[in-house]
Amino acid sequence: MPNTFESESRKLLGRLRDTMADKAAGQERLDKITHLTADSMGTEVCSIYLFRDDETLELCATQGLNPESVHQTRMKLGEGLVGRVARTGKVINAADAPSAKGFRYMPETGEEIYSSFLGVPIQRLGEKLGVLVVQSKEAREFSADEIYALEVVAMVLAEMAELGAFVGEGAALQARHTQSVLIRGVTAQEGTAEGHIWLHEPRVVVTNLVGDDPAKEHARLTEAVENLRVSVDQLMAVASGDTEQVQVLEAYRMFANSKGWLRRMEENIDRGLSAEAAVEKEQSDVRARMLQANDAYLRERLQDLDDLSNRLLRILTGQGTQTGAELPENPILVARNIGPGELLEYGRQLRGIILEEGSVGSHAAIVARALAIPLVIGAKRIQNEALNGDHVMVDGDQGVVHLRPDDTVVNAFRDKMAMQAKAQERYASIRDKPAVTLCGKTIRLDMNAGLMADLPSLESSGAEGVGLFRTELQFLVRSQMPKRTELAALYSRVLDAAQGKRVVFRTLDIGSDKVLPYMQAQDEPNPALGWRAIRVGLDKPGVMRMQLQALLRAANGRPLSIMFPFVAQYEEYTAARAEVNKAIARETKLGHPLPEKLEIGAMLETPSLAFACKKFYEEVEFLSIGGNDLKQFFFAADRENERVRRRYDTLNVSFLSFIEDIIARCKATNTRLSFCGEDAGRPVEALCLAAIGLHSLSMRPASVGPVKHLLRRCNLDDVRKVIHDARDAGEQSVRPAVMEYLRGLS
Ligand code: PEP
Ligand code: MG
Repeated sequence: MPNTFESESRKLLGRLRDTMADKAAGQERLDKITHLTADSMGTEVCSIYLFRDDETLELCATQGLNPESVHQTRMKLGEGLVGRVARTGKVINAADAPSAKGFRYMPETGEEIYSSFLGVPIQRLGEKLGVLVVQSKEAREFSADEIYALEVVAMVLAEMAELGAFVGEGAALQARHTQSVLIRGVTAQEGTAEGHIWLHEPRVVVTNLVGDDPAKEHARLTEAVENLRVSVDQLMAVASGDTEQVQVLEAYRMFANSKGWLRRMEENIDRGLSAEAAVEKEQSDVRARMLQANDAYLRERLQDLDDLSNRLLRILTGQGTQTGAELPENPILVARNIGPGELLEYGRQLRGIILEEGSVGSHAAIVARALAIPLVIGAKRIQNEALNGDHVMVDGDQGVVHLRPDDTVVNAFRDKMAMQAKAQERYASIRDKPAVTLCGKTIRLDMNAGLMADLPSLESSGAEGVGLFRTELQFLVRSQMPKRTELAALYSRVLDAAQGKRVVFRTLDIGSDKVLPYMQAQDEPNPALGWRAIRVGLDKPGVMRMQLQALLRAANGRPLSIMFPFVAQYEEYTAARAEVNKAIARETKLGHPLPEKLEIGAMLETPSLAFACKKFYEEVEFLSIGGNDLKQFFFAADRENERVRRRYDTLNVSFLSFIEDIIARCKATNTRLSFCGEDAGRPVEALCLAAIGLHSLSMRPASVGPVKHLLRRCNLDDVRKVIHDARDAGEQSVRPAVMEYLRGLS
């Protein structure tokens, strides 16, 4: 009978709460819980297994099994029925456990006399903590109500563990969030940083788990859900026009009005939970489903539901995102994901960024790169593991995060940072010297930029100018299309800050991975090969015209360099050039000053442009190889796809031969050529590019020092010979030979 069951469940929760309130040691509390649970469920056995490390579970308390086996019996993840529950996160309900698949007999526990087995995972918001088991002699399957009751106990256990209720001796009873953890992710911006965690969205802590008065809890939940609906409607009204955001909010609205969602939470209250615990139990179930969902769409929707539960929890507990906590010293930001605008608000005060999700080409990554802040993405579990203020070391070079590192790690990491700092000093000492090689060749080193905040680096890095100014960043960080006057003012400030140094403005390069929040998203099967960059600019010339006009106005008579991205054929260049001519004619008519010198170039990012006719090479005033895109098309390997993006070496002989061919074409027509992809900022790659004849490189500001340092120590004639010899010898990549040459340098 449900009512009897509900009151039993509430009684058990009440007793659990009393146990929590007792001033007892961790072990004593666990023992009491096993006793209470076995008693309430009418089983002979109740046992709690907790993780002592990522792979091993330990029996930490039991009622009914041999007490001697506590803290002795251990099992690997996946081993036996308990290990299986832990691995899969799914309930096992077996009437005849010894004959169930995967059963492992553990003689020390004396469990062979028990026939039925019910095991549920102890997990908090998708994080696995252990397994709770009841067993009895009678061979029977447990009912759905009994499973639910045990799940609620497991949830209470998880919450209590989070609050440090079971701290005791041994690894399995260590206080949560105190152990050191190593989390492996993916590098999105190199560099190392030491600091303290700052959670972008601090987790909600539920301290009030049990609801004594169900009617009151129902009323609280109803009111909170109503508030939630209103707030989603308000967001919706503000977001209209922003398709992506509207889509997410529509999903929110659908869930907020979903009867099933509400009903499940109400049932949780009926069984004795407080309104917030009811929401969290539902959220935990959603997280468990999320972990198992293979379908990307389903995962995203479950993610929406998870976000919505968080909002509801914040309403119920009054815990906002603003907790009143102060940003710690040397803050390292932790978030599931973050938008470029939010990241810019934190700005350069951040020492490092760790994201659970994110991608190398995401806007956040672009901004982190522009700000030169080490960024690790795909750092699973970081949000669950980290607490505000925790000590952390971010190794952006290896894509690794050391959370609460122990002394050995701290020392090794600090040594590494000291070595890097020393290298920085070396680079600073040659900042004002030219990048002249031992054979007397001067290589021009420019920097890439995209934000006003980048411009001070022009001075500090020793770059000669800005070889690539990615104008799309200004568009990406806004919630609506910037106005011409705003752009003109910004470009003018960029030119002011450059103090006469050359700045190459690349016109809007959107599409593919760079989607403007306020433009209609295109549903394209393969966006990297889709409607992007100059293709958008020529098909919908309004924005391009506005941008060209803003650039001409910003120059206000000063020299101006404009570069068109992703040009795939001559005709695209001439069409874009015609737009410039039209803009000039318009400005002349209006009596505005024209640039004292105007140069119009193109990015060479598609193999097709490399083979364009001679006339194109004669006509274009300069070319810059966008190696990031060119390489992805040359090797047919998506630069965004972790599986393949590192598969082909830039120093592969085919790619170098291709670049050599482009250099030769430019030489024949006297066309200025530079290289502005990421590889220009990698010292060994930069050296090889210089050796084969690329004498102008544009890179991140932080790379100018290391690249210059290496170039000044090398003889390009020797390097060229090493490259050609390796190629002649049939090597696939010239890297090993070049590294050998570098090892031989004094
Ligand atoms: C490139 O493709 O190499 C390039 C510099 O452009 P982006 O990385 O902005 O696509
Ligand atoms: Mg590109």
